[in-house]
Amino acid sequence: MAITSFNPPVRTLMGPGPSDVHPRVTSAMARPCIGHLDPMFVGMMDEIKDMLQYAFATKNQLTIPVSAPGSAGMESCFVNLLEPGDKAIVCQNGVFGGRMKENVERCGATAIMVEDDWGKPVDPQKVEDAFKSVPDAKVLAFVHAETSTGARSDAKTLCEIAQKYGALTIVDAVTSLGGIELQVDDWGIDAIYSGTQKCLSCTPGISPVSFSERAVKVIKERHSKVQSWFLDTNLVMGYWGGSTKRAYHHTAPVNALYALHESLVLLQQEGIKHAWKRHQDNHLILRAGLEAMGMSFIVDAAYRLPQLNAVTIPAGVDEAQVRSRLLNEFNLEIGAGLGTLAGKVWRIGLMGHSSRKENIVLCLSALEAVLGDMGADINTGVALAAAQQQSAS
Ligand SMILES: *Cc1c(COP(=O)(O)O)cnc(C)c1O
Repeated sequence: MAITSFNPPVRTLMGPGPSDVHPRVTSAMARPCIGHLDPMFVGMMDEIKDMLQYAFATKNQLTIPVSAPGSAGMESCFVNLLEPGDKAIVCQNGVFGGRMKENVERCGATAIMVEDDWGKPVDPQKVEDAFKSVPDAKVLAFVHAETSTGARSDAKTLCEIAQKYGALTIVDAVTSLGGIELQVDDWGIDAIYSGTQKCLSCTPGISPVSFSERAVKVIKERHSKVQSWFLDTNLVMGYWGGSTKRAYHHTAPVNALYALHESLVLLQQEGIKHAWKRHQDNHLILRAGLEAMGMSFIVDAAYRLPQLNAVTIPAGVDEAQVRSRLLNEFNLEIGAGLGTLAGKVWRIGLMGHSSRKENIVLCLSALEAVLGDMGADINTGVALAAAQQQSAS
């Protein structure tokens, strides 16, 4: 049988990412491919850098999109800042802190772990204690928005502690950028990475990163070469750098960058503070519906992420079957639990273009239909009214 074109169904993406892509972003991707050194393209690259500075709230010159997914942005921060023999304090309160540890060790550095329960934020006191016992740690690394649990850590306070001990900070903002407040310069973050597919309403595959002046100085004064040729910012900046003369480093993912450009235009047009507020407002609407149905959140309200809602699964329900019925009958994707939370929670994303009232109505009614059908112990006929009441308030 001849293989023909791939035509995916239209799904509503309410998992931990990718999230719904804004139609303006998908149509931007379909524009003609031009050369990655074409002067027209170089002009667009400069606009991307400007708009990323806006999104990150930074004046950092070294603010660029890495041509690969969030994981590559993570790796970019670690390989550029760490050298063999360095020490890094790494906070883990979910899946992604564990990946930071992997990165530290692959750089030949030592990871000093600060661990918190999954679903809890990073405890600043534990970080302070870690610095007291390892005052020469070069880096403090933590995840701002832990997508595996839905917990937000206090990035500002954690950065203050690192600064007190003269350490650089590496912050995972893959799920936070565009969804909750993030202030790179005000909080004194030295290296930060994000992703396009979470709260930016864009397609997966690009990772915005930003490095402070202090971080750039550390990179310039390295004793050893950055272990990754592709991610070495000294080389990447030959292409993305400030001067008008751009040298070939790798072929930029031209159309994916059109998509990022359009998503950042959307963010500017909405206004980043409005985007944060939209995420929060919609979270409260979803929450009202889920709680009316009888479901509960695993993260305390004080540090709950609005864009990632981790809720307990009603007793006796085959959670994988629920997710597959949502997908097959309603074209709706929600996320499973990850790591220690596998089988225990669903992760319902309200990220970027997915954070819309019509998605919430679909999610609540589809969940109620499937759970009701499976005889789960939930309250029926109340979720939409509760959501609507919250929405009107
Ligand atoms: C999704 C995610 C990543 C990885 O991003 P990819 O684009 O999947 O490589 C890293 N950290 C966090 C917190 C994430 O949510």
